[in-house]
Amino acid sequence: MLIIGSHVGYKKDKQMLGSLEEALSYGANTFMFYTGAPQNTIRYEIDKDKVIEAKEKMLEYNIDINNVIVHAPYIINLANDDPSKYDFSISFLKGEVERCHELGIKYMVLHPGSHVGLGIDKGIENIIHALNIVLEGDFDVTILLETMAGKGSEVGSNFQELKRIIDGIERKELIGVCMDTCHLNDSGYDISDFDSILDEFDKIIGLKYLHCIHINDSKNVRGARKDRHENIGYGTIGFENLLKVLYHEKLSGIPKILETPYILDKPPYKEEIEMIKSRKFNEKLKENVD
Ligand code: FE
Ligand code: FE
Ligand code: ZN
Repeated sequence: MLIIGSHVGYKKDKQMLGSLEEALSYGANTFMFYTGAPQNTIRYEIDKDKVIEAKEKMLEYNIDINNVIVHAPYIINLANDDPSKYDFSISFLKGEVERCHELGIKYMVLHPGSHVGLGIDKGIENIIHALNIVLEGDFDVTILLETMAGKGSEVGSNFQELKRIIDGIERKELIGVCMDTCHLNDSGYDISDFDSILDEFDKIIGLKYLHCIHINDSKNVRGARKDRHENIGYGTIGFENLLKVLYHEKLSGIPKILETPYILDKPPYKEEIEMIKSRKFNEKLKENVD
């Protein structure tokens, strides 16, 4: 069965229950959220009653909480060991893992980090050291390293770099990977030959480490190292190529999450999920946008 959802909001009052309700309004059977604004560190205490309510509603709608994803905020940078920032990133990420645990969420997506001129080797070393500290706790939350576009000094824009990080992690049962189709395209992978990408991933990292896929088209050509998401079928990857990823037999149990841009200030996810389910491109989606 296709497990499809999108990025959704998370607000102080309704918390994960609100995120779930937004996802249901799109016809989704999973979703991804930040436990607060991704660009700041303000986090509210998790309301246990709301967690129970959300879990009950998930049962009612046949949504498996193991398919629901949290995304770590992008202010965390584990690759930079500047003391003023490194300790903050580590402790904030630890807090995020604890919040996932309280919410009953199993998978958290993380951008590995940017080495900011320290070099790839030092960046990877810093990420490994930090993750081993974060994963020390008694929590059953798996961190998924996202495949990155390679913008600036981003670490993790190819499978080899992710493999080097994973090799350094002590608790391998708590580490995995999230592929992002826009990022793969922008870092140079050819999504039109997705079978080869999966084969390469399997050889280098191992398919058992893959637990989430971000489905986005790209505004830029392959290898541009830009990271600008486009609505599905409107970018350089194309609708048919994304369908092949979405319906790939080897990935049937893996949640697929849309992070495509809003259209005229409105979320496009209901329409995009319809397109995906019907496997028919909707050329009217961006009709009023020039
Ligand atoms: Fe991401
Ligand atoms: Fe992503
Ligand atoms: Zn991105």
